[in-house]
Amino acid sequence: MSLIKINQKAYENNLKKIITRIGNPSKLICVFKDNAYGHGAKILAPIARLLGIDFIAVKNEKEAYELENFFKNILILSHRPHGNENPKFIYALNEISKIQEYKSGTQIHLKIDTGMHRNGICIEEIENAFLKIDKLKLNLKGVFTHFSSADELDASFFIQKEKFFQVKTLARKNYDGLACHSYNSAALFRAQEMPQDELFRIGIAQFGYGDKNLEKVLSLYAHKLSERVLKSGQSVGYGRSFSAEKNLKIATYDLGYADGLFRYNGKGDLFLTNNKKILGKISMDSFSCEECGDEVCVFNDAEIWANFFNTISYEILVKLHPDIPRILV
Ligand SMILES: *Cc1c(COP(=O)(O)O)cnc(C)c1O
Repeated sequence: MSLIKINQKAYENNLKKIITRIGNPSKLICVFKDNAYGHGAKILAPIARLLGIDFIAVKNEKEAYELENFFKNILILSHRPHGNENPKFIYALNEISKIQEYKSGTQIHLKIDTGMHRNGICIEEIENAFLKIDKLKLNLKGVFTHFSSADELDASFFIQKEKFFQVKTLARKNYDGLACHSYNSAALFRAQEMPQDELFRIGIAQFGYGDKNLEKVLSLYAHKLSERVLKSGQSVGYGRSFSAEKNLKIATYDLGYADGLFRYNGKGDLFLTNNKKILGKISMDSFSCEECGDEVCVFNDAEIWANFFNTISYEILVKLHPDIPRILV
């Protein structure tokens, strides 16, 4: 049985560090989308709740319903309006032309495009959006934006921040008590000062990525299915991409690309945490390596796999199959 171990202390410590940085837990929107970045939303929800988190962001309504009993405020980021929105949830309004498709009374946070040009309405459209929101009796509870490159050295971060400042001013002239938010993990740890009048939408930092003072929360384990001695010259796995140069005791473990591992094609050195190499190509449901016990840690830092596969830790983490059991350790 493959297994994901969630380090509860590490998760709590990360949340506490984030909360210290932003001031208090009521300013934090924990981004729990995509099964809490593969970590397991249901297993983390009660821990976040106990630390005073009352606001999360998820991808869609399915995720929102799964977590509705844990958090008072749930923002749904990638919603396609259908007219039957739940008054309990908060929906991101990503596109003004879809506005009449929301049920009246629906709580919304208006997404503003300050430069990422992915979702949201542009600043010039805001007044018009307010008119439509009022006419359709939608319940505007917040405005937000997303940074394309929350890197201090990048001028676009400052330009977007400045634009969002204008948005906040304009929006607050028209509506009372609006929640405004723009910062993600990168902005949180790179910016010198925190805006005092905003909430913070934090995803990956909760899980230990993006700052060296955070602790990695997830480690991935596989278990032995079988073992054998590979005789000198024999190969293992599809395509015979690895052949033993001398007799070698190998084992096959129960985790493969169907479980969300990237498919290693046998080229280049990909190491497990015990410094053993994966031997041959990864199969759908298994991989092989030098025999190293009944349980092996595949990774406890997704960055290593991300670097190997030329991607980002987010992608390595979210691809972990939801059926892999998650346990707290
Ligand atoms: C995923 C997401 C976040 C969180 O980003 P991190 O880099 O993980 O902190 C914040 N806001 C929006 C709109 C997102 O989609």
